[in-house]
Amino acid sequence: MKISELLRQRPTLSFEIFPPKNKDGDISSIYSTIDQLAQLKPDFISVTYGAGGSTTRNTVEIATMIKERWQIESVAHLSCIDATAENLRGVLDQLKEKGIENILALRGDYPKGYDPQTAPQEFRHASDLAAFITANYPDAFCLSGACYPEVHEEADSLEADLRHLKIKADAGASYLVTQIFLDNNYYYRLLREARKRGIQVPILAGIMPATNAKQLLNMSKMCGCSIPYTLSVMIERFSAHPAAMQEIGLNYAAWQIMDLITNGVEGIHLYTMNRPQIATEIMRRCDAILREFRDAH
Ligand code: FAD
Repeated sequence: MKISELLRQRPTLSFEIFPPKNKDGDISSIYSTIDQLAQLKPDFISVTYGAGGSTTRNTVEIATMIKERWQIESVAHLSCIDATAENLRGVLDQLKEKGIENILALRGDYPKGYDPQTAPQEFRHASDLAAFITANYPDAFCLSGACYPEVHEEADSLEADLRHLKIKADAGASYLVTQIFLDNNYYYRLLREARKRGIQVPILAGIMPATNAKQLLNMSKMCGCSIPYTLSVMIERFSAHPAAMQEIGLNYAAWQIMDLITNGVEGIHLYTMNRPQIATEIMRRCDAILREFRDAH
């Protein structure tokens, strides 16, 4: 089923996982992760994509398995920064053949050693990829795109980022998923400003629970998300106490979800980091609220 159809009916709860990283390309360690996530009955699970070789194959394979073995809808991420149209056709043909109906169309992060002089330049932005898929695979896929509550690091301003986001939505992204944020006010700002500019597609909120101080600080640095004062004080006070930090991280993520649902969010997308126990624990902390959210029509 296309996620856009699902979103027309009700808000969604979804999870993101990544293909296991190991030298021999063995993906079997992901099975128990999916098993445990499946018990939480998500509307879909998305699988990240790293450009090139076995990682690409693994994304397709895992997305296919989620659908076939667990009967859960899947979304395959696909990036285009160093791809050619021919490479992309190869992956898109595979996805179509395997019955994958949902793609998160991304530009992707610049790979290590990326050289614009030698790298293919056919696709510069995620919107180029969305337009390519829409033109070459009409109606085959439901496309989505990424968006940034605290503005993408390369964008000059919120205004410019939103202008580009509108191009992405117009090129076929039928819903958007946000980058991680820890201050819900940035999500509400994005929603408000996007709507003002005619971006009407659902914007799912990306939440990542961090359960230790180092992880929280890394996440803030890597994803460019700011740490609200109340949370930074808790980190300062409890950073040397792992159990306390875990409690803070779980409760904080649960609180973010409750606040978002209260304010009418159309979807919660949990970055699980392949840690299903954490996802389970968060769901448990807002169980009644999530049940009401998912029953909403
Ligand atoms: P774009 O939408 O192309 O935006 C990148 C920059 O270019 C922005 O500054 C934007 O303002 C600007 N821009 C966009 N369009 C235009 C235009 N037409 N003209 C001028 N400027 C423009 N990375 C991976 O490698 N694999 C993954 O699986 C993955 N999954 C992700 C999932 C989510 C939900 C999110 C939020 C991010 C994910 N990323 C992933 C990271 C993502 O690839 C990076 O954040 C990357 O830097 C930008 O990708 P994008 O698709 O948002 O790019």
